[in-house]
Amino acid sequence: MTVKRTSRREFLKTAAAGASAAMLPLPAIAQGAGGRVVVVGGGFGGATCARFIKRIDPRIAVTVVEQNPTFIACPFSNLVIVGLRELSAQQFGYDKFAADQVTVAPSPATAVDAQGRSVTLGNGTRLPYDRLVLSPGIDIRWDGLPGYTEAAAERMPHAWKAGEQTLLLRRQLEAMEDGGTVVITAPANPFRCPPGPYERGSLIAYYLKTKKPKSKLIILDAKDAFSKQRLFQNAWKALYPNLEWVSLSTGGKVTSVDVGAMTLVTDFGRHKADVANVIPPQKAGRIAEIAGVADRTGWCPIDPVSFESKLVPNIHVVGDASIAGAMPKSAFSANAQAKVCAAAVAKLVTGGTPQEPKLINTCYSLVAPDYGISVAGVYRPADGQLKDVEGSGGVSAIDAPSSTRALEATFANGWFNTITGEVFG
Ligand SMILES: Cc1cc2nc3c(=O)[nH]c(=O)nc-3n(C[C@H](O)[C@H](O)[C@H](O)COP(=O)(O)OP(=O)(O)OC[C@H]3O[C@@H](n4cnc5c(N)ncnc54)[C@H](O)[C@@H]3O)c2cc1C
Repeated sequence: MTVKRTSRREFLKTAAAGASAAMLPLPAIAQGAGGRVVVVGGGFGGATCARFIKRIDPRIAVTVVEQNPTFIACPFSNLVIVGLRELSAQQFGYDKFAADQVTVAPSPATAVDAQGRSVTLGNGTRLPYDRLVLSPGIDIRWDGLPGYTEAAAERMPHAWKAGEQTLLLRRQLEAMEDGGTVVITAPANPFRCPPGPYERGSLIAYYLKTKKPKSKLIILDAKDAFSKQRLFQNAWKALYPNLEWVSLSTGGKVTSVDVGAMTLVTDFGRHKADVANVIPPQKAGRIAEIAGVADRTGWCPIDPVSFESKLVPNIHVVGDASIAGAMPKSAFSANAQAKVCAAAVAKLVTGGTPQEPKLINTCYSLVAPDYGISVAGVYRPADGQLKDVEGSGGVSAIDAPSSTRALEATFANGWFNTITGEVFG
């Protein structure tokens, strides 16, 4: 799906400026509102939702439950892995929330009593709610790939939650001899950030080309197709001859890992790695399962108008944890969904009815530090799911000049600064 260049540029400008990711008109401040909303997870979805509920109706008491004192953002963390950015640029605190009268409870949520409507925290505190919003992100399916345990992740990092894992993968790349083999394994759908493994592959290939040119990179994939595939593959052909992508049909699906032997096993053979980045199968953050809002897939079915769980009333799920139809699991999506959910929750606590939303997502990827590509989509509820609005959005032009790629890399940077400024600033 490609769009005309002029209209697309206008679209990207708007998206990069962070203007109204959710095209839902915010309802007027409800009169005589009140009620208590608890939000679990202070990441892209949860932190946005909490602040927007308070903006829409200041009389609603809003508490965000977050287990970490500092949020570490995944977008741009692939640059940290290859030494082009520091982890400190990814870190955001919650000190601005008090001024918005959003209470932050710095503790893990450990239990949800859906009938009695309360959340229990690790320190034993019980928080009653009228509406609960969950945006816990992802957890690794530790039972999803034989041999890949929490201990294994210390040798073969996933780096799919930013932080110590990101730095571990960086140190391993730095320590690798020139001439070594790096292997990335990409999971089957659905997973957090569909273009993420390929952006990572690109930036690691860039690192190897500039720092360790005798080395090679193999991406073992459990899929035959991926986000922005032609754009990535055209760029790889031109820039990174030492990058090999192995698809599902050609034997890319990793069926187990042998950490001792630093080997990735597929049905077609074994791949020995000097550095192995295993991006494993994932599921909704554990608290979703505890609350009973995750189904057998491990993800959370939601009503696409209000983001209320289809399984448990009065609990809403946004961000990566939700099954959001055609919307990818991205920070942009989580932020857009959170605004729609905030408007719906503010209506529902005062007995109102949420309005039908339209939502936008744009995902930028860096193929090199000055080479950006993007995909954009617009979504609306249809048949109980979020579906693509036909003819809206699309991907970067296949044949664009390097100046356009450089411009998209600056848009990516602008997008990151805008969204983190809105969510945490
Ligand atoms: C390498 C990489 C690159 C990416 N690049 C991009 C990009 O360029 N653009 C983009 O849009 N997206 C990108 N993403 C995806 C993006 O990071 C996620 O989609 C986004 O973070 C989802 O937001 P969320 O609110 O669902 O989860 P998160 O942002 O992960 O937030 C979840 C929060 O919940 C907290 N939490 C979980 N459980 C509990 C509990 N029980 N109690 C208390 N707190 C809890 C966690 O500590 C965390 O702070 C990337 C991801 C990766 C891995």
